[in-house]
Amino acid sequence: MRNPIGNFLDTVVELFYPSNCVGCGHPQDFGTFLCNDCKATSPRIQAPFCRCCSRPFDGVIAGEFCCPNCEDRKPAFDCVVSNYQAKGVLRDLIHRFKYGRQYHLRRVLVEYLVEATQDPRIQAGPVHYLVPVPLHPTRLRERGFNQADALAETLSKRTRVPVLRCVERQRYTNTQTRFDRVERMQNLRDAFALRKNNNVRGKHLVLLDDVLTTGSTLHECALVLRAAGAESVRAITAARG
Ligand SMILES: [Zn+2]
Ligand SMILES: [Zn+2]
Repeated sequence: MRNPIGNFLDTVVELFYPSNCVGCGHPQDFGTFLCNDCKATSPRIQAPFCRCCSRPFDGVIAGEFCCPNCEDRKPAFDCVVSNYQAKGVLRDLIHRFKYGRQYHLRRVLVEYLVEATQDPRIQAGPVHYLVPVPLHPTRLRERGFNQADALAETLSKRTRVPVLRCVERQRYTNTQTRFDRVERMQNLRDAFALRKNNNVRGKHLVLLDDVLTTGSTLHECALVLRAAGAESVRAITAARG
């Protein structure tokens, strides 16, 4: 994890650094991290989209709908709010944040999560805890930090909802990008567990990750939380892959 001095230095650098767009580098008003042109490279997904997984649908559907994926395999989460495609500048920012160790980009990415918390599906009920999707300790050592954890912490400061690190990754899973959906699900089976001495019974939880791909990871985490008696498990991500 990050040490306090590292966090402090980040903050000092951010305070005294001129405000430039993190996408294109052009000067911005103080406090603006991303210009409108860069923002526009990953536009917000418009309705209709699946009420459960937010997957967009090309075409016209009146009212709410549930996509075939969610109909087939009832996900363990109640919904996942993910309103931006991981493309354009947003995709680059996530990549730089995650693999380039540009830790300060959490401030930009958290805006997408703040927006997700304002979705009616999240606003509909109380949220007791934000639960970041965990990384396996080996992966954590390689990467230096857990991107979901860093985003949860930043979001918690904004929303005052506490972070609960109650899920752990107990199996080292192969990197998933090469797998199709079924392989991913097999790869992830039993990869997660409830961390000792955590009680989520009766709680309303919001899982949090940087990117939604097939939803298998969130599904597996939600299964664990449901089995532990969580009352509801919703999820938010900054973007969808
Ligand atoms: Zn820009
Ligand atoms: Zn769906």
